[in-house]
Amino acid sequence: MTKLSPPTAPTVGFISLGCPKNLVDSEVMMGLLDRAGARLTSHPEEAEILIVNTCSFIDTAKQESVDTILEMARHKTSGSAKKLIVAGCLVERYRDEIQKSIPEVDAVIGTGELESILEAAGLAPSPAAPALFNILTSSSHAAVHAGKESLSGTHKAAKGKINSEGDGGFNPRILPAEASGALAPEITSRAEGNLREQQGRFRRDDWQGATHLLPTYLYDETTPRFLTTPRSSAYIKIAEGCDHPCSFCVIPNLRGKFRSRRFESVVAEAEQLVARGVSEITLIGQDTTCYGEDFGLKDGLAELLDSLARIPNLRWLRFLYAYPNRITGKLLDTIARHDNICKYLDLPLQHAAPAVLKRMKRGGSAEIFLKTLEKVRAAVPGIVLRTTFITGFPGESIGDFDILSDFIKEAKFDWLGVFNYSDEEGSGAISLGRKVPRRTIESRKRRLMKLQQSISKRAKQQWVGRELVLLAEGESEETPLLWEARTQFHAPEIDGKVYINDFGALEALEPGRFYKAAITEAHDYDIIARVVSGPL
Ligand code: SF4
Repeated sequence: MTKLSPPTAPTVGFISLGCPKNLVDSEVMMGLLDRAGARLTSHPEEAEILIVNTCSFIDTAKQESVDTILEMARHKTSGSAKKLIVAGCLVERYRDEIQKSIPEVDAVIGTGELESILEAAGLAPSPAAPALFNILTSSSHAAVHAGKESLSGTHKAAKGKINSEGDGGFNPRILPAEASGALAPEITSRAEGNLREQQGRFRRDDWQGATHLLPTYLYDETTPRFLTTPRSSAYIKIAEGCDHPCSFCVIPNLRGKFRSRRFESVVAEAEQLVARGVSEITLIGQDTTCYGEDFGLKDGLAELLDSLARIPNLRWLRFLYAYPNRITGKLLDTIARHDNICKYLDLPLQHAAPAVLKRMKRGGSAEIFLKTLEKVRAAVPGIVLRTTFITGFPGESIGDFDILSDFIKEAKFDWLGVFNYSDEEGSGAISLGRKVPRRTIESRKRRLMKLQQSISKRAKQQWVGRELVLLAEGESEETPLLWEARTQFHAPEIDGKVYINDFGALEALEPGRFYKAAITEAHDYDIIARVVSGPL
């Protein structure tokens, strides 16, 4: 029997923690809720239903997730909220434990069960979806906030607050609403993933409360999404899961085997986004460079980028999280060939000492990576490179750490993140001996960041005097005297900032529009710009 939505639509507050991949899941759940009649609010005290989409990659992320659940539970205890729902990666790891230890939690939703959000919220799916996009008005509200820190490897910082009110550039919107005719995505897999499964990579049976079934969920272009990013930018998740064996990482156990979205589905979603005013698209997935391998595509990411780059009015296109041994000549040629593909590569390397990389089950060495970087820089002149490292992996000796430091000096990354190793239940590395003491890990991280600071400063100084195209984002949160912007060399919410302190001949700037600007100053990570012309 079909349940009907309650006559009064419930008000829902949604908190999304963690990386952009989790944010897309949140946007899908918010889209489903909105279409089923819920009213989304950015004020938790107004919400009848509170939903926390959690992250659980490392200790700090788990702690933040638990703290946020407890904070939201207080709204339930005080009587303002009637329901508390927990979703995401923490649920995949500690499903039973969450409900046992936090009795205020009414329902839990794993990463492969996004559609169950409606049942958990007591809503029925909307029987008749409107045929066109439904752009929410400014009176609609979105998520309470996005996570502060997200993680190493393929997991990047997604800082800051998503707030639907008063930031000018923010315009939450639903897309698309066409539900009929959707083909259920066929579940595909890579031979590498099947092999890893046989080797026990995805074993979940000894996890308390985890279901034995791996998530297989994939959204497509017909799934409603409530975009919470600024109007001009959006993420597209092109694949889910991961088949790599990295021993520090439990993401494959949480997210399941690698599976790509259908090529046409990604292109259709990109076209819909651009038609709604999005001019910058960032492709994400645990490993975007494996895209399409599960359905037999060779150089699938290059093919996909080539098709997407042809969409008129798509100004900036980029992808995040490349796996080092999957940077092909064709991929680099594609980046070089299209003006609207950002000259930016995010290549999480995790370490440079061969002994550590071997124990991480990733392989490679400083020497191999330097050759890869040389190849990338030769094929795409001027490309900006980002990477992340983990320090304090079990067995990381002083010699290994020195190899990593020397590599950083030589590689000269434009952007670099360092994360502390932490033991993760269910990971291969947890059973490795020779753990590095916490204080040593912390001091090694500080030393690497200090080293990178001077490299970054020198690199940014070379930008001074150049004219670059900027995407204006809005007034700075720090002071109304400055505006914030990004160049193609800054991924959304990840890299340093561009501050505009001079509008040139213009009276005002518009968020989401592109301008030509001269770079006038450089600091350790941030740069200062003066607008020269625009909007472009
Ligand atoms: S590539 Fe490695 S670090 Fe990244 S999600 Fe897969 S297993 Fe984890």
